[in-house]
Amino acid sequence: MSERPISLVTGAGRGIGRGIAIELAKLGHAVVINYAGNAGAADECLQLVRAAGGDGITVRADVAVAEDRTRLVNETLAAYGRVDLLVNNAGVAPNVRADILEAGEESFDRLININLKGPYFLTQAVARQMIEQVQNNAVNSFGTPRIVTISSISAYTASVNRGDYCIAKAGLGMMTALFAARLAEFGINVYEIRPGVIATDMTSGVQEKYDQLIAQGTWPLRRWGQPDDIGRAVAAIARGDFPFSTGEVINVDGGFHLRTL
Ligand code: NAP
Repeated sequence: MSERPISLVTGAGRGIGRGIAIELAKLGHAVVINYAGNAGAADECLQLVRAAGGDGITVRADVAVAEDRTRLVNETLAAYGRVDLLVNNAGVAPNVRADILEAGEESFDRLININLKGPYFLTQAVARQMIEQVQNNAVNSFGTPRIVTISSISAYTASVNRGDYCIAKAGLGMMTALFAARLAEFGINVYEIRPGVIATDMTSGVQEKYDQLIAQGTWPLRRWGQPDDIGRAVAAIARGDFPFSTGEVINVDGGFHLRTL
């Protein structure tokens, strides 16, 4: 049995996923760095993970495709024989931001498949493996396995020019509740992290808009979020710092969710 805890992080080549992988590497994890197509970014992430004290492998798999999800789990088990932490991070924004009175089904299907259906069925597959580990008493120093899903402030914030994205992220909130309720009897805790606006490729095209919102104080902590802000929250979960919490939502958003008067 590998001595390192084993984390499977989807969409870990770039952006928030990379930030998560590096913070987990600092805890000594072996990280399965999943990516969709950018092999160069995934390889670079693996180098950074190793430099930070971790280890890992890269696995190309589209989380929206059933065979790819199966292969992702199989390659993880072939390399390490277990999964201690699943981080559902992979996600996409709509290619075109279209008003909900105009937006088409193609974008809706793409967003639901990648951002909601993929994590739902990947979680199902990994949860079965985690249950087996618990039942076989194959628990290492990490403790019982855990699951984290990266949703968004869009889970509850209505942006009428990307309804597909908002609906998918809202769905992840229920997914977290469902798996938290179902897996509690096995001691497998399930968490949702809701990032605010984070500086990655996903937000680079709308940088000016968000610069303005920050200047206006749209969220109280007036700065861009960084990938390591999310990575550090995942690391706290990985360290086991929330043992009596499951189905919990952790906002990492500079206080965006606050209502002020
Ligand atoms: P990003 O910079 O665009 O990176 C996306 C990552 O996901 C890449 O590694 C990409 O792989 C991977 N990916 C995309 N589609 C995939 C698929 N079908 N299967 C497997 N991997 C796939 O995005 P990000 O900003 O880091 O966002 C990461 C997550 O945080 C997303 O779920 C996003 O919705 C959420 N989020 C982001 C923000 C923000 O402000 N940035 C805010 C709230 C929530 P390749 O590198 O191979 O393309």
